[in-house]
Amino acid sequence: MKEIILLKCGELVLKGQNRSSFEDAMIKNARRRLEPLGKFHIWKSQSTVFVEPLTEGIRMEEAVERLQTVFGIAALCPALVIPKDWQAICAAAPGYLESDLLAARTFKVNAKRSDKSFPMKSPEICRELGGLLLSKFPHLKVDVEDPDVLVTVEIREKGAYLHKRQLPGAGGIPVGTGGKAALLLSGGIDSPVAGYMMAKRGLELIAVHFASPPYTSDRARQKVISLGEKLLPYIGRLRLFIVPFTELQEQLRDRCPEEYFTLLMRRAMMRIAESIALREGCSGLITGESLGQVASQTIQALGVTDCVTELPVLRPAIGMDKSEIVAIARKIDTFETSILPYEDCCTVFTPRHPRTRPKGDEVARVEAEAGIPPEALREAAEAAELLVLSPRYQRS
Ligand code: ATP
Ligand code: MG
Repeated sequence: MKEIILLKCGELVLKGQNRSSFEDAMIKNARRRLEPLGKFHIWKSQSTVFVEPLTEGIRMEEAVERLQTVFGIAALCPALVIPKDWQAICAAAPGYLESDLLAARTFKVNAKRSDKSFPMKSPEICRELGGLLLSKFPHLKVDVEDPDVLVTVEIREKGAYLHKRQLPGAGGIPVGTGGKAALLLSGGIDSPVAGYMMAKRGLELIAVHFASPPYTSDRARQKVISLGEKLLPYIGRLRLFIVPFTELQEQLRDRCPEEYFTLLMRRAMMRIAESIALREGCSGLITGESLGQVASQTIQALGVTDCVTELPVLRPAIGMDKSEIVAIARKIDTFETSILPYEDCCTVFTPRHPRTRPKGDEVARVEAEAGIPPEALREAAEAAELLVLSPRYQRS
């Protein structure tokens, strides 16, 4: 007998005529995620996707864990495929459900019989299997309203399926179905979370990181690579651009009044990120900014950084408290890496009294006076080093 996994597509169901292409994208992403474990047959029928292992000895718990990071899957349910024979079902059920039932106090059996030639009707299946499980697990009680475990038996054309407990999926929309955007990825807590949040809404990501050696160290750079790798289970692969930013930062430091430094630096970052984003076919930028978190994240400061790019700037953490961002960072396992204490380019040359309510025209004037030519920004974008992070080459 073989264990398979049933996937529930959740929000995809709302997508009307596009539903099929969303499901196909989810299946493609799931297939890619399972590839390292062996061969699988994945197919869909009605609103369920079936994942069947073809290679011997695949650890199904690992397959479930991997699928739990695939956006577009609302819930997963391991199930045993049994010959369509009542004796076989009764023989298999207690052993297969043991771990779920030992941890539960109440249960209910639910039967679905799409193959009407099966000799027992649904109520009879529920009654008989319920009785059998009660005799094997005498601590259990039946609760038809709100059971701890819902045991589902499905009698289909090709066999009977006995479902285990339903597990939560990653939710969201399949990566890639919403287009592509460039994540400004620092070594901090917020930007990896922002990338995760937007990938969850269907965006494919590339990442742009600004490095200012020797002010920022090689370990800071490695940290950003590690953060990119932590996102791979959700996003598949990541083209990470590392922009040499030292010279521009030094020029800005030398040529502009100190209180404007961060604003001008952030405008430069936006322009460079935009140039890489357009080259890579992206339709937007993503940052980890959160309103009021620091001086450069007041609504006025965001206004003067936004206006230098034509692309929409997505800031999914904008209305979140740090503690809420941290909770997601822990969930996606980026937190411990993010808090490693290495300098980011944003924290070198920080002004003592940054402008918190800048006006657009005044910033534009200061910027013009600093006189950094647009070509310098283009050159930095072109000089960016590209690292392609993919699970295949992922370090352990
Ligand atoms: P995080 O960097 O994760 O936000 P932080 O709060 O320390 O932590 P900020 O200085 O607030 O970072 O920067 C705001 C946003 O600007 C970041 O979320 C990120 O999107 C972008 N950013 C900052 N530094 C860099 C960098 N070195 N490279 C790319 N993007 C950066
Ligand atoms: Mg931040």
